Amino acid sequence: MPPGGGASGRCEYCQLPGGVAFFAHEVDHIIPEKHGGATEADNLAWTCWRCNRHKGSDLGSFDPATQNFTFLFHPRTQPWEEHFRFEGDTIIGLTPEGRTTARLLQLNTSEREAERRRLGESPTSDTD
Ligand SMILES: [Zn+2]
Repeated sequence: MPPGGGASGRCEYCQLPGGVAFFAHEVDHIIPEKHGGATEADNLAWTCWRCNRHKGSDLGSFDPATQNFTFLFHPRTQPWEEHFRFEGDTIIGLTPEGRTTARLLQLNTSEREAERRRLGESPTSDTD
């Protein structure tokens, strides 16, 4: 189980709390096994099913701001707050990794923003 994991752990990409999503959160290989990623704590992240489906076996994509190939955000080695921030119900990518991950994982579809709105707060605004 990765750090922060567990039934109530937040998705390490979109910060959705566990236990509120229809489907249970899952353990994601940050570097997918097909690319040589190990099943070890420093390569595992706790993710919601939507982030995990969109991420699939991808390692990176194109930064929508520069069109340069960029690796995805790595939740074990990169602090979330340095790469993303909430603006209302929308997750803003602050860096190439943040922007690329927000687009590839489709963090800001209307459905997902509505889900955050239903939770009544930006998921990071409380202190646990
Ligand atoms: Zn997520």
